[in-house]
Amino acid sequence: MSEKTIFARIIDREIPADIVYEDEHCLAFRDIKPQAPTHVLLIPKKEISSLDDLQSDDHKLAGHLMMVLPRLAAQLGLADGYRTVINCGPDGGQEVPHLHIHLLGGRPLKWPPG
Ligand code: AMP
Repeated sequence: MSEKTIFARIIDREIPADIVYEDEHCLAFRDIKPQAPTHVLLIPKKEISSLDDLQSDDHKLAGHLMMVLPRLAAQLGLADGYRTVINCGPDGGQEVPHLHIHLLGGRPLKWPPG
């Protein structure tokens, strides 16, 4: 079996995280190296390595994550807007091989990203 990712260990409460939201299917916690005043990662509890690894039977889960994002943003007080990012693969800058959506806000964010 491949080694557990750091995010799987957070789901299993083996390492601490500042959890801001949890339900049956997903977990959100503050990024350890925040790139904005608010920087949260939303992850599915199911082990999915990246966006490329979503299967057709994951469509409900993917939709659920999308529905949670605006509720989470509201809960975190991001009334002026926010950005969501999914890094995928080496060129996308993905470091942790467990699907995660970055939710960033609390300041005006520049575009395009680096
Ligand atoms: P990515 O580059 O899209 O794979 O993003 C991985 C993110 O996970 C980075 O922003 C890291 O700062 C964050 N990260 C890594 N380890 C932890 C941790 N233990 N708790 C919270 N965030 C983490």
